[in-house]
Amino acid sequence: AKREGKGNYQLFTYSKDISSYKKYVLDRDMRKAILNEEFELYFQPKVEPIRGQIYGAEVLIRWNHNEWGAISPSEFIPIAEENQTINLITDWVIKRVLSLLKEWKEQGFLLRTLSVNVPPIRFMRNGLVELVKEQLQINDIPAKFLELEVTESTLLRSDKIVLSKIEELKNLGIKIAIDDFGTGYASFDLLRKFHPDTLKIDQLFVQNIHHENEMDRGIISSILYLAKTLEMKVVAEGVEELHQIEFLKQQECDFIQGYLFSPPVSQSEYEHLMKIGY
Ligand code: C2E
Ligand code: CA
Ligand code: CA
Ligand code: CA
Repeated sequence: AKREGKGNYQLFTYSKDISSYKKYVLDRDMRKAILNEEFELYFQPKVEPIRGQIYGAEVLIRWNHNEWGAISPSEFIPIAEENQTINLITDWVIKRVLSLLKEWKEQGFLLRTLSVNVPPIRFMRNGLVELVKEQLQINDIPAKFLELEVTESTLLRSDKIVLSKIEELKNLGIKIAIDDFGTGYASFDLLRKFHPDTLKIDQLFVQNIHHENEMDRGIISSILYLAKTLEMKVVAEGVEELHQIEFLKQQECDFIQGYLFSPPVSQSEYEHLMKIGY
């Protein structure tokens, strides 16, 4: 038999080595990071496209790692989903968001909706509905100011558990948004069953709005038509260019979100945006 000899070792490229080491470190440090308060919430405004008023914001998490600096969520959220820390992180975000709403209410800000990303596996675990209910009560915030963004894949596991949890959450009065709409496999039947409050059109479609691209424009118009019929609001994500806003206005899209109006900003910057009267 052939022995594993010299030259048979696995060859790692330099960058692969770095990235697997990074993954190892992030995985190792994640729990501690919650206690050390290394996570920070950023806010990206959702804006009404005609008058430019801020309707609310999506809450996006950032990790300021004590040695490595800022880590993007697209890097650490998948790891957190693997090692289940995502459940702790999600609950931490929900608590922070409701206490922030309370703070803002006490400071006299006009309350606006905050949207939190809730990944599939959090719905499978116990305690989500109870946590939301408790935090709304403790902070004395009307349920309609909290929205949960759920990806289509969550709804696809139309597991009885997920279905009933979403139902319970809706009954509390919180809003449900379907995230990245159009890229998954949400069927009309699912829309009928869940009746979400909001559809978020994936930035993939928005970024292809231009005259030559009848297909993506057509998809957006159809989503808007469907949403209107089913009485859902639509948020277009990833709006970066003026001509995209023009098209979305003309199609009567309810809200836009994207770098053109604002990237995700820190709490104090978001407070400033709210203060200057947007
Ligand atoms: P997402 O939920 O689809 O969030 C939208 C992402 O698009 C954000 O990236 C946002 O910064 C980015 N974005 C906004 N406007 C534009 C634009 O005009 N152009 C482009 N190219 N991008 C834009 P971010 O903050 O890096 O988050 C990436 C993903 O990480 C999110 O995608 C979400 O799936 C996940 N994520 C972020 N925060 C959380 C969280 O608190 N919990 C969970 N479970 N997932 C989160
Ligand atoms: Ca989202
Ligand atoms: Ca999205
Ligand atoms: Ca996404």
